[in-house]
Amino acid sequence: MSVDLRNSALIISEDLMRLFEGIGDGLIVTNRFGEIVGMNKASELIFGVSKEVNIHKNSAVLLRGLSDARTRMPLSSPNLPFNKVIETGRPIDSVELLLKKQDGKESFVEISAAPIFGDENLLVGTLGIVIDVTNRRQLEEALTQRNLQLSAINRIATLLNRTIDFREVLEYSVRQTMDIFSGDAGAIFLPDKSGRKIFVAASASLAEDFLSEVHGSETGATVFGRVLQTGNVESIVRGENFNGVPRSLKKSPFASVVVFPLKAKGKAVGVGAMFSDAERVLEDTQREIIEGIGTVIGAAIENSRLHEETIQKTRLLESKNHELQQFTYAITHDLKSPVLVIEGFARELRRGGHLETEQEVLVDAILASSNRLHSLVNDLLDLARVGSVEAVLEEVDLGEVVKRVLAELSIRLSERRIKVSLEGTFPRLFVVARYLERVFTNLIDNAIKYMGDQENPQLVIGAQDKDDHFLFFIRDNGIGIPKEFHERIFAIFQRVKTSDTEKVEGSGLGLAFVKKIVELSGGTVWVESAGKGKGTTFLFTLPRQ
Ligand code: ADP
Repeated sequence: MSVDLRNSALIISEDLMRLFEGIGDGLIVTNRFGEIVGMNKASELIFGVSKEVNIHKNSAVLLRGLSDARTRMPLSSPNLPFNKVIETGRPIDSVELLLKKQDGKESFVEISAAPIFGDENLLVGTLGIVIDVTNRRQLEEALTQRNLQLSAINRIATLLNRTIDFREVLEYSVRQTMDIFSGDAGAIFLPDKSGRKIFVAASASLAEDFLSEVHGSETGATVFGRVLQTGNVESIVRGENFNGVPRSLKKSPFASVVVFPLKAKGKAVGVGAMFSDAERVLEDTQREIIEGIGTVIGAAIENSRLHEETIQKTRLLESKNHELQQFTYAITHDLKSPVLVIEGFARELRRGGHLETEQEVLVDAILASSNRLHSLVNDLLDLARVGSVEAVLEEVDLGEVVKRVLAELSIRLSERRIKVSLEGTFPRLFVVARYLERVFTNLIDNAIKYMGDQENPQLVIGAQDKDDHFLFFIRDNGIGIPKEFHERIFAIFQRVKTSDTEKVEGSGLGLAFVKKIVELSGGTVWVESAGKGKGTTFLFTLPRQ
């Protein structure tokens, strides 16, 4: 490059020009009047013009297709890069501009320009570098788009996480998918149990005739059923491939529809569809996003369906349980009178005094058995009544309850030489006094019954304050309970059958009482025991009121 000072012209040597040509970015040199004195091949390509036409022309002619990248407003003459540098004498660094080429195509360019100074620091021209950043920008846009869509999946997942209600899950899903893809209508289809038919489970902005045509249609008949079978996303555009869509949809204003599988554990459990008035073809990235959304919705549907099933099964169980309880109660109740008659007659026979010794023994056996049966029937009736008969809540000092129970059992405790100790402070709670008395009686009575031949029998009854609840325990060092019985023993008539327990009398109802009362009071009960001969601790909680 040399400067002819007489006319301040900027002349670029051929060597320098050759060097310029080898550079991949666009290079443009102007004189101090803004006229182009040199440009390389790369700038010809970027601007879509030929050098011959532009050389010696004002750079404004070449740059007239430039506008602001953001606002798309054309740049005014003083704002064109070379003019600005000539005007201010200062360089400009990488401005991103939108370029509309002569053939109408758009691209994005980044232009930097710097002044060229000659002798005595006189500005003689400018040098500009032009880089085509269209690809980079498209990538950036695709990334932004993807980020937006990923956060959309996240949003849909978060929203769906908030509810387990089946209907809500379906409706949210339709609305959210429409939102994310700016759809004009949406629907979710679910198959029947056999998978042979599909039904509209939720929809938005869809006409009745379409809904009734698809509702209950054969799975193979429409694109919706097909996606359920193949598990692949389908994008259908009117004119191109509108085949396979229901007749009513062909008549509708929609120009495209995207049908996507809703998958749970890799299997399509339903189908989502999004309808658009515009002819929209699904791009690859959108396809991935919609597959992601389908998986999120599929999992949510499966979860809420399981939840629904559990609720229904629980209801069924509850009603069966209720029936069973009533049945037990009725039978037990009917047993009561014959038992009383047998007992009464046996007692009469005994009192009459005309019996041979042998007969007396038999009558005594009848009496003893009918007595046992009588108390069993009473216990069963009591158990059935717990919770079903209105009981009065009163403020009860549980420490007093324990003392009362210990006093009632004192003879048996001292016969067996059991050392009893109390631990912690027992609270006052609003409970049904006789129920809680029964809980402590049954548990302490069991501790005595199942102490075995322990030489140093001990019983600890304790209470602990655990912030939102109280914990109570009854710990003995008796025969212990093998692990496999820990759950079972709380069920009615369940007893542990080992050599240690065979001589101990019992009905298997005591712990059923305990469980029913504790659970009715809002607590839980469980047992801990390291096994045979290792002692047993029963623990139960009661809520703080
Ligand atoms: P039962 O009338 O048989 O005592 P429960 O329902 O009170 O009925 O107890 C069920 C079974 O649990 C008992 O038969 C016994 O095998 C076991 N069990 C209960 N409490 C204890 C304990 N403290 N130590 C060892 N085994 C126990």
